[in-house]
Amino acid sequence: MTVADLSAQLTAYEGRSAVLGGRGRDPVDAAMIRHWCEAMGVPGPDPAVPGVGPGVAEAPPAMLQVWIMSGLSGAVGRTAAYEELVALLDRAGCTAVVATDCEQEYLRPLRTGDEITFDAVIESVSPRKTTALGTGHFITTRTEIRANGELAGIHRFRVLRYAPARTRTASPAERPRPVINRDNAGFWEGVAGHRLLIQRCTACGRQRFPWLPGCGECGSPLWEAVEASGEGVVFSYVVMHHPPVPGFEAPYAVGLIELAEGVRMISSLVGVAPARIRIGMPVALEFVRAGDQELPVFRAYEEGL
Ligand SMILES: [Zn+2]
Repeated sequence: MTVADLSAQLTAYEGRSAVLGGRGRDPVDAAMIRHWCEAMGVPGPDPAVPGVGPGVAEAPPAMLQVWIMSGLSGAVGRTAAYEELVALLDRAGCTAVVATDCEQEYLRPLRTGDEITFDAVIESVSPRKTTALGTGHFITTRTEIRANGELAGIHRFRVLRYAPARTRTASPAERPRPVINRDNAGFWEGVAGHRLLIQRCTACGRQRFPWLPGCGECGSPLWEAVEASGEGVVFSYVVMHHPPVPGFEAPYAVGLIELAEGVRMISSLVGVAPARIRIGMPVALEFVRAGDQELPVFRAYEEGL
């Protein structure tokens, strides 16, 4: 099949249904709201908010997708049209998938007890695109989410289905370079001198990372840089197996490090086999050189060794 033939076939799926008559697995409930807020490190809903009745909580708007997720048992309610689209891309060699971005619109708050229903359409299928991961097509679905039958939000979700680029020997020099801008330039200057700098608001004293122009606590634009000790623990982590990323040899561990100063940062975990990384493991800062770029990484230590 030529590229033009495939593109024409893919475009024919635009506007077709992706999910019809989807139902949330559970009504909006307080336990899920509490778990989500704890995981995100944000305060839970305030029972004193006007308009919310006794014993009723309002879910944070950004939880919108939570209520339509299908869990480990797999996607429910996908239409034959969507499955055909995926099969067509599979046959064209686009066997890998990665979620790229999502946009949400919030039209009405979700409250505990709301029954969730949803429908999704295939909004667009892009022409063939070549990305760092490989060549493929972006599929955008648009999901209308209703609470007790009333439109509550719109969730647009984009994935790239692609033919993986051939993997090469991983050389650290090939790692993507960090994006350095005027807001974080001071951090990278610190790294160049083997110092891990975080920001401290000089108005309220709150320490923060990543670097931002203002304080998330009090709004003050005044801050100073303070050097972190480099000591911390693994707050959470993932072990990456796929997709291949230039400069990294899978499997490798990416940690969310909680520094002794209380802020968290994402970085490479080294020194322990990825399968042996555990939450709570102590870590210590090191610097590695990738090409002409210094990078902070964290060496993990197995307890008792
Ligand atoms: Zn502040």
